[in-house]
Amino acid sequence: MLHANLQFVKGLIHTHDGKNIECESDEFIQGDYVIPDSGHYYKVFIGESLLSVSSSLLDPDFNLTPGEPLSHDPKMQEWLYQLTGPNDEPLRSIRHEFTYMDQPVRIVVAEEISASLRMVDQLTSYFLLITPVMISLIAVISLIIAEFSLRPVQHFSAALEGISHKNLEARIPADRQAKELRRLADKFNSLLERLQRAFEAEKNLLGDAAHELKTPLAVIKAECDIALQRERSAADHAASLRNVRNVVKGMLFQINSLLTLTRLASGLLDASSFARTSFTDCVEDATVLAEPLARKKNIALSVSLSEDMTVLGDEDSLTEAVLNLVENAVKYNHPGGFVAVSLTRRDGMAALTVSDTGIGIAEEDKERIFDRFYRAASARSSQEGSGLGLSIVQAVARTHGGAIMVEGQPGGGSSFTLTLPLAEEAA
Ligand code: ADP
Repeated sequence: MLHANLQFVKGLIHTHDGKNIECESDEFIQGDYVIPDSGHYYKVFIGESLLSVSSSLLDPDFNLTPGEPLSHDPKMQEWLYQLTGPNDEPLRSIRHEFTYMDQPVRIVVAEEISASLRMVDQLTSYFLLITPVMISLIAVISLIIAEFSLRPVQHFSAALEGISHKNLEARIPADRQAKELRRLADKFNSLLERLQRAFEAEKNLLGDAAHELKTPLAVIKAECDIALQRERSAADHAASLRNVRNVVKGMLFQINSLLTLTRLASGLLDASSFARTSFTDCVEDATVLAEPLARKKNIALSVSLSEDMTVLGDEDSLTEAVLNLVENAVKYNHPGGFVAVSLTRRDGMAALTVSDTGIGIAEEDKERIFDRFYRAASARSSQEGSGLGLSIVQAVARTHGGAIMVEGQPGGGSSFTLTLPLAEEAA
């Protein structure tokens, strides 16, 4: 509005006689633009002399551009001011400078802004009132949305909380979860599956170990009871001690085997700790270790290693697995029997076969001999053992991504084949 008034007043300036500059008097300012009694003012200067002033400004000397301007537009040569008018009304004025007929002309137009200020005041109080209401409303809506969107997660965590070590067989019902949480539920379920298996393996191992160690401990106790029952000769005591020592030796062997099994089952030994290992060297070392036993039992041991085969693995546990197979082949053999160890490449795998001419294995035992502490009846009656050797072989094979298989029949000898992925095939 202020600009429109400025343009109007600018349009009233004209020349008279082609020389003097004039501005239409107030009487002419009728119709389109009427200057009211107060609140709207203008002044026109040529140089420093006042050319025209609106009749509404009763004191023509009243300064409509006091103090510092609020803003300045250098391109348009305009200055904006805010001031208090002659009737104490709030005013806003604009000063515009230009050159007309080589004369500097200055127009100042002012208008009352109390209505605008009132509107600003009203808007401010409206916002002050409405803002807290809006904020509270948004907070309540956000809480409702958060509660609603978190409900599936709460549902999920409630299902999870219901599972502990006491009911590891429980699962999170994936189909009853929100769509986005179903994959997570599946992942949790497979984690629970693995945990349950590990827990059960641990529990079984402990139970089996306690059960198996009870028998030799009972033997030791019985031996001690007998020795203490009455006066005995030194030779009798020595015999009792020898018996106890033999039982303890067996227990120590069992405990070492159990420790190896636990190490394998707990995942302490895994691919991250594997290195390139010559499986041929492991087989060679194991046969050298088994040789004294073979000689003692008069068993001929033949070893055939066609080429050097490298696998990714743990040298000690691989040697131990091969030693278990070769010692068994000697142990469950007849005096004067034969054991053949051969390492070949088969379908991109290293295949170690340990065959013997021993007592053989019944069909129903073939699956079970890899179970912890399981010993076939024929073995129990003829040889001492822990029933842990083949469990270790199987655990080593699995940890290395391989497998163990058995063939043979009672009285016809046995043949165990351990296959392992070759390092170059795995790379
Ligand atoms: P252990 O030899 O201490 O009994 P293993 O786990 O090594 O324990 O073997 C488990 C069982 O498998 C043996 O008790 C025996 O019945 C059977 N077995 C293993 N190797 C042979 C073999 N070469 N010939 C016949 N039976 C075997």
